Amino acid sequence: MNEFELIQHFFTRSACAQGGENVSLGIGDDCALLQLPAGHSCAVSTDTLVCGIHFPENSPAFLLGQRALAVAVSDLAAMGATPIGFTLALTLPQIDAAWLQAFSEGLSAMAQRCAITLVGGDTTRGPLAMTMTVMGAVPKQQALLRSGAQVGDVLCVSGPLGAGAAAVPVVLAEIDPQTIAADTQQQLLAAYWSPQPQLRLGQYLRGKAHAALDISDGLLADCGHIAKASNVCLQIQQARVPVATAAQQLLGDAAALDCALSGGDDYQLAFTLAAHELTQLQQQFPAVQVVGQVCAGAGVQLLDDLGQPVSQRRSGYQHFT
Ligand code: ADP
Ligand code: MG
Repeated sequence: MNEFELIQHFFTRSACAQGGENVSLGIGDDCALLQLPAGHSCAVSTDTLVCGIHFPENSPAFLLGQRALAVAVSDLAAMGATPIGFTLALTLPQIDAAWLQAFSEGLSAMAQRCAITLVGGDTTRGPLAMTMTVMGAVPKQQALLRSGAQVGDVLCVSGPLGAGAAAVPVVLAEIDPQTIAADTQQQLLAAYWSPQPQLRLGQYLRGKAHAALDISDGLLADCGHIAKASNVCLQIQQARVPVATAAQQLLGDAAALDCALSGGDDYQLAFTLAAHELTQLQQQFPAVQVVGQVCAGAGVQLLDDLGQPVSQRRSGYQHFT
């Protein structure tokens, strides 16, 4: 099988490359052609996953396809965008038909869930790596930026945190699976391999949230990005941070809280908005929790039950440090 047959078989004909409301031309030409609805901006984001760094060697191909796309689409959710299309630049050590079939099925499963279409890409030989570029539409002036947080806003998260990071030793098989309760293991693996981009919430928050992002590096580190971009201080009440039950069951409360604060890989949204928006928001999105507030100042403050600063041990994953 040559490169062109590979593209035809596993990508052009795959479920994820069919249709797409705003896709006028998909895979096969020099470029794809996308339509933006009138009055919309195009939201674009790229993510690269390298084997051995962002996912373990011998990762199941179906799960990898699913996770790689979910992680990329999460950025569209964080902007309040509606997904349109994505490209896939895939570097493969060899052509392995069974691997490609499973990968393209995993990709298709997540693409269907997110209503996004594969519109092109590039295929090269080398150490396994993939780059996804996702594109979406967001009404002009309504994209959810990091820079709009206002003093007096409440700070919210879209759901429980910590499962993504707690799952890593399970994914890497560093913990004997026999020692973990089956449902805990299943929840952790699902959190890692099948993150749920918060698209519906992101779209709901258009024109409501003043600042938003998706939590990929840990709550503290990511809130630091909002604080900096918005020139404000984000105060977080440690006791209000929702911690994933599966993380607590695996690691105990203290280590699970660490995962929630600093672990990353959760792909929930953190956002700020006026308190009067809360009732309606939580009616529609019951998992949303208030974890703190926006005040004058700079940086992120983690507070204990008495409102005293908690010393911060770690603050999120960073490459090159
Ligand atoms: P070009 O040489 O013009 O860049 P290619 O031969 O690399 O084109 O690709 C042919 C077509 O297949 C293009 O439309 C490209 O977007 C698409 N394509 C290549 N690799 C992939 C892939 N991994 N997934 C989806 N589409 C792909
Ligand atoms: Mg090419």
